[in-house]
Amino acid sequence: MNTNAMNSKEQSSCTICGNTSAAGLHIVKSFICSSCEQEIVKIDVKDERYPFFVSRMKTIFYEPNANA
Ligand SMILES: [Zn+2]
Repeated sequence: MNTNAMNSKEQSSCTICGNTSAAGLHIVKSFICSSCEQEIVKIDVKDERYPFFVSRMKTIFYEPNANA
């Protein structure tokens, strides 16, 4: 029996919510879990969490230490 064949997916820590999941998006050096991915897709700009998601997304696409 080969038990290693199905374990190719690594668990990653979500950049937005911090949860560890194997399902989601890898963007640059960051990871967004599938639940946050769904939130981002459907979130409204008037949602109180919208600024939080935007700020987290900025940390993904803009490296804070790029100009060190
Ligand atoms: Zn998440």
